[in-house]
Amino acid sequence: MRVHEFIYVDGGWADADAGERIEVINPATERVIASVPAAGPADVDAAVESAQNAADEWAATPPDRRAAHLAAFRDALAARRGDAVGTIVKELGAPVTLAERVHVGLPLTVLDSYVKLLAEYEFEERVGNSRVFAEPVGVVGAITPWNYPLHQAVAKVAAALAAGCPVVLKPAEDTPLVAYLLAEAAHAADLPPGVFNLVPGTGPVAGEALVRHPGVDMVSFTGSTAVGERIGELCAGQIKRVALELGGKSANVILPGTGLDGPVAKGVANAYLNSGQTCSAWTRMLVPSNRYAEAVDLAATTAATFTCGDPRDPKTRLGPLVNAKQRDRVRGYIGTGVREGATIVAGGPDSPLDLGFYVQATVLADVRPDATVAQEEIFGPVLVILAYDDVDEAVAIANGTPYGLSGAVFGPDEETAVAFARRMKAGQIDINGGRFNPLAPFGGVKKSGIGREFGTHGLGEFLEYKSLQL
Ligand code: NAD
Repeated sequence: MRVHEFIYVDGGWADADAGERIEVINPATERVIASVPAAGPADVDAAVESAQNAADEWAATPPDRRAAHLAAFRDALAARRGDAVGTIVKELGAPVTLAERVHVGLPLTVLDSYVKLLAEYEFEERVGNSRVFAEPVGVVGAITPWNYPLHQAVAKVAAALAAGCPVVLKPAEDTPLVAYLLAEAAHAADLPPGVFNLVPGTGPVAGEALVRHPGVDMVSFTGSTAVGERIGELCAGQIKRVALELGGKSANVILPGTGLDGPVAKGVANAYLNSGQTCSAWTRMLVPSNRYAEAVDLAATTAATFTCGDPRDPKTRLGPLVNAKQRDRVRGYIGTGVREGATIVAGGPDSPLDLGFYVQATVLADVRPDATVAQEEIFGPVLVILAYDDVDEAVAIANGTPYGLSGAVFGPDEETAVAFARRMKAGQIDINGGRFNPLAPFGGVKKSGIGREFGTHGLGEFLEYKSLQL
């Protein structure tokens, strides 16, 4: 059966009411590789209705039974690991090693973390003379972007299902195919009908229909700040719970007295992860003025090792951007940077390959903190390097954008770095190259969003509290 013909509703594949389709393009070859339905309001209605019908029973399913379902879901996805990697390489252009390790490896870790969390999470607590119950918020509309298409979907679906909420997932237009694998995994795992539903479609039609639907109790959105603002407004008008994971312009601060080699190399690699299409990417590197020239040289040398190539090749470090519009936007930012006084010390706006939506790994030096390229999210392989004179100025620059998602601090010792990080307005900060932790809360402040994903904090987003006074 060609599943891409259908939407996934009420535990089965169904014809979409809407006749239109969305073409999926391989950004490395610029060829159409598949198409999926552009679901319309009637399709969203059907998916929400099936989720509503499933809600009471799923909420009443004891946590250990939900954990068993989630474990089966995880195993069914793991059984499709190779397919998922191949799909993400094709629809996003992610290098195969990154697709394997991060795009598919991470969601499996996250699913696993929720299976384990359910074994110990207390859904009931005693507070003085009250019994307080944590209950599922209800039907969740999950809307996800294209940059980590499986990871972003699983971050929402795993936490919502663990909390006892059925989900309707609306994946991004550019990368809907791996969401089909998730639906196939849900099907193979025998999740109860209606607990997981998939409606691919455009943001303005299927996305907005989901947000506006009175049967949706909560919207969990990851995407751009502009769309997040719109969704936030629509939810406010309905007094509907909303979680928003939005953009970023994260700072990587190298403190005085810190060796440059490791922090610069790690900073460059982080900025170019997934071709720079990473919301949490450290796209601004802050270095002491007296080490600026040295840091710029090191960054330029490191950037030159990030050559563009075929994402199927295990040696490729930089794949294409997701689509032509995104490539042109990123090149436009490089031009803006130069017009505002920046110097290109690596890469540049010229096309590195004849075919595919590629942008070279670019480093911009001599950038002022208020320059457009230091303020706006570029979402491509463009790193800007900024100088600071003292630590207070570094704090001001790090906090001086509308965003506050993540960041990094490299210091001479852990305590100095932690003390600096405490002054940063951001949700998640890596200290001296700290590792990703799937149980630690992730999310932003300021225009980077509202709410947290992963671990108990991520679970809590999908819970309401009911207290019974005794
Ligand atoms: P986008 O906002 O254009 O789209 C995201 C999703 O929203 C897509 O599924 C899209 O179809 C849908 N959508 C668009 N308009 C809508 C509307 N009016 N109503 C409902 N849904 C609508 O974002 P994108 O370009 O796909 O993703 C890139 C952005 O996502 C970047 O800004 C990036 O920083 C952000 N992002 C944030 C995080 C995070 O965790 N904070 C993670 C990944 C990506």
